[in-house]
Amino acid sequence: MDGNGQNRTRQRHDEVLADIARFAGSSIELDVVLDRIVERTAALTAADRVSIWLLDATRWKLLPSALWGMHPAFTTNWKTRPLDLAAEPLSREAIETGQVVIVGDAMTDARTDKASVRFFGDRSILVAPLARRGTMLGTLFLNHVSRHYHFSQEDVETTLAIANQAAIAIDNARLYRDTRRLAEQLRRSFRYAGEALAAGVDLPHTLQMMVRLAVETVDADGGSIGLVDETGRGTYLVASAGAEAPPSVVPEEFPLVAPGRHLGVLSLWRESAPFGPEERELLVAFAGHARTAIEHARLYASLQDERARAREAERRQADFASMISHELRTPLALIKGYASTLLRPGIKLAPETSTRFLEGIEAAGDRLRRLVDNLLTATALDGGLFSAEPRPVEVGALLRRALDRVSLLAGTRSFCVSVEPEPLWILADEDQLSQVVENLVTNAIKYAPGASPVEITAMQKGDRVQARVRDWGTGIPADALELIFEKFYRVASNQQAAAESPDSDATGHSRRAGGMGLGLYICRRIVEAHGGRIWAENLAHGGAAFYVELPGTTGTTAGIGVPAS
Ligand code: ADP
Repeated sequence: MDGNGQNRTRQRHDEVLADIARFAGSSIELDVVLDRIVERTAALTAADRVSIWLLDATRWKLLPSALWGMHPAFTTNWKTRPLDLAAEPLSREAIETGQVVIVGDAMTDARTDKASVRFFGDRSILVAPLARRGTMLGTLFLNHVSRHYHFSQEDVETTLAIANQAAIAIDNARLYRDTRRLAEQLRRSFRYAGEALAAGVDLPHTLQMMVRLAVETVDADGGSIGLVDETGRGTYLVASAGAEAPPSVVPEEFPLVAPGRHLGVLSLWRESAPFGPEERELLVAFAGHARTAIEHARLYASLQDERARAREAERRQADFASMISHELRTPLALIKGYASTLLRPGIKLAPETSTRFLEGIEAAGDRLRRLVDNLLTATALDGGLFSAEPRPVEVGALLRRALDRVSLLAGTRSFCVSVEPEPLWILADEDQLSQVVENLVTNAIKYAPGASPVEITAMQKGDRVQARVRDWGTGIPADALELIFEKFYRVASNQQAAAESPDSDATGHSRRAGGMGLGLYICRRIVEAHGGRIWAENLAHGGAAFYVELPGTTGTTAGIGVPAS
């Protein structure tokens, strides 16, 4: 070659290398990069066929990755057939020695497979190793078919320069592909976390997808997500992917922590090698996403609960309004009915009948008063305007006064009262405690059959005083024993058949056990304001008992005791 020819060759050489270097630094797909490399190499070296073979992850197989100089249909098929490195002496030599391998005459060279040489018509072959940062990536083949080719030192150098650039391009493209895959997986896991805030998202399913993604991303053998149980000490498994870790392997754990709270743990294991720092960083990000998903799902559930509670509150409000009007109308209708009859001109009533009607008016009036008292107390409690004014009160006298106020309601039934010792003093707001007694006794009458008595006892118990109102009625369903003290709570009528009241019109109490679900709520609040407690029990021989226990004088100013005389 003359000087000009050499210059032209060098120039072309430089252009091609610059070209390869340019796309080596770009972010093009690996397949496209490889196709360009084989095409440019062929243009520069005048080889009839150029191919690239890449080692797979096991490093035992060569993956046919790019081929120039064959029909495209052949190339597609060819790519699906990996070769064993052990059966490819030329590639193996290039990879093992890191040197270019030259085959001057493919037909006679001992290292070639004669069947394939014949099939492809190879004459001369040059194989360059593709290496990057000391790691072998594969081989670059230059095949001359039309004639034997004598590879010069310059050819070798050119091929090595191309192989060097090609290795950089492959490395970069792989890095780009891996980064994109990771970014995509992180985006997916992040999206799962976000979706957990939406309606109908099944949290275990979302966590399942996340574990699968984490296992796939770091090529782990298996993994799982466990959530901390209610005791806060143990975890329970909610999602897993891949195989279970054998006893010899301790999975690596990535905690799912929210500020101040440990929610669970993402565990992964890989037998072949421990996770590297970059993989750990990724797994920490996955754990963060899983945590967000859990928090989102819980937030969503609590929002739903909140909404359900708001709807329930609205419903109760509406029920309450209709209940109040019903409760007020019934005694009012009775009063109106008795009064109109008594006032009807020209009517002659027997004196006992007139008395019964007047008693009916009084009983209905009492009932109205109790209703209004309870409503006012509940309103004061809600408005924070409720306060107790404790003074020394004698329990026996307090009970008698309260029972007096419900006597008309009692009809024929008897009250058995016992106070031990007598006099028994407590420090209390008399009006408020009287309201408690009235409510408890009214309930005993409402929820117990006709003639059964109501038993009221009060006794000193150490430094406390305990009072009990006991009836022989329907009792209270076990699961409602606590709930009955909540505002507006009433046992459903199919759970508790309202007791038949003996009352007739004369008592002012309807045969249906009416009520607003406020009585016991008010009792509890009053008793608690006095530093005491109230609870209900079903008794072995039937009926319910309500206990009120108030603290002794050594307690607060609202305490109880027998003042020194
Ligand atoms: P109400 O106005 O409905 O009587 P309360 O707050 O006084 O409201 O009582 C709440 C519920 O507790 C009642 O609806 C009833 O189901 C139940 N209850 C209260 N006292 C008794 C009792 N002595 N025996 C059986 N059930 C009772």
